[in-house]
Amino acid sequence: MAILFQETDTASSAADLRTWAIKVQGVTKHYQTRGGAVQVLAGINCTVAAGEVVALVGPSGCGKSTLLRIVTGLESPDGGVVKLFGLSPVQARREHRFGIAFQTAALLEWRDAAANVALPLELAGWSPEARKARVAELLARMGLSDAAHRLPRQLSGGMQQRVALARALALAPPILLLDEPFSALDELTREQLQGELLDLLATISPRPAVLLVTHNLTEAVLLSDRVIVLSRRPAQVLAEVSIALPRPRRADLRDDVRLHQLVAELRAVLRGNGG
Ligand code: ADP
Ligand code: MG
Repeated sequence: MAILFQETDTASSAADLRTWAIKVQGVTKHYQTRGGAVQVLAGINCTVAAGEVVALVGPSGCGKSTLLRIVTGLESPDGGVVKLFGLSPVQARREHRFGIAFQTAALLEWRDAAANVALPLELAGWSPEARKARVAELLARMGLSDAAHRLPRQLSGGMQQRVALARALALAPPILLLDEPFSALDELTREQLQGELLDLLATISPRPAVLLVTHNLTEAVLLSDRVIVLSRRPAQVLAEVSIALPRPRRADLRDDVRLHQLVAELRAVLRGNGG
């Protein structure tokens, strides 16, 4: 149960960058506000290996979503480098290397569940027949076959997030970026979806690399291979905790004493930072 403190930054070759699903090096970011410049990210270094699940935890407002948006190329850092399998975020986006799901499902309200899941396939130029088959497969995998023709407002919050996950996985991306995907759900639904995500990650082959932002420490430990703990704003990496719990994992692991110990360890790191 070792806490591995952040490695010192070393210059890395192009070959090294390509081996990581995600490599974030020395990323800094500030926002201009009416009160002046606010620094959000203060030199973040982190990596996610192919097929690895990494959770990013930290106090509310510390910059987790900002870092994730930088990884997607929706925002640019002030300094530092982000590579996804050696590509820039913008290139990776163009080449459909990652799928994304956020706290709010962000579904198109006039499209039914099937048409929402089909969206990335349309954008990638899939034929209608191929789309139909892939959407049916994804909806079945998420237990949503009966809801295919319902509009988002006719779906429960949990079902909306299942649609969002199906959409994120539509193109079988090698990277999955999740920003608090279950935070808006009630506790039981959230636990159910955590279990479903565990099952998904155990069955998708090859397993995508996952960067999961969450403020829920149990969720972080349950789902991930490694947890990166960020400090209060401006965020720095406080610690990396390896989660050496065997896979495949089942949702009832949440009641396991080993999980509780890891959660306590993470809480202690955050408390030490005044979190
Ligand atoms: P987290 O996801 O960890 O809760 P965020 O990355 O959303 O944190 O936000 C980090 C900080 O940056 C917060 O103080 C937030 O108010 C600020 N912030 C986020 N986006 C912007 C923006 N576009 N303009 C100004 N400040 C922002
Ligand atoms: Mg956030």
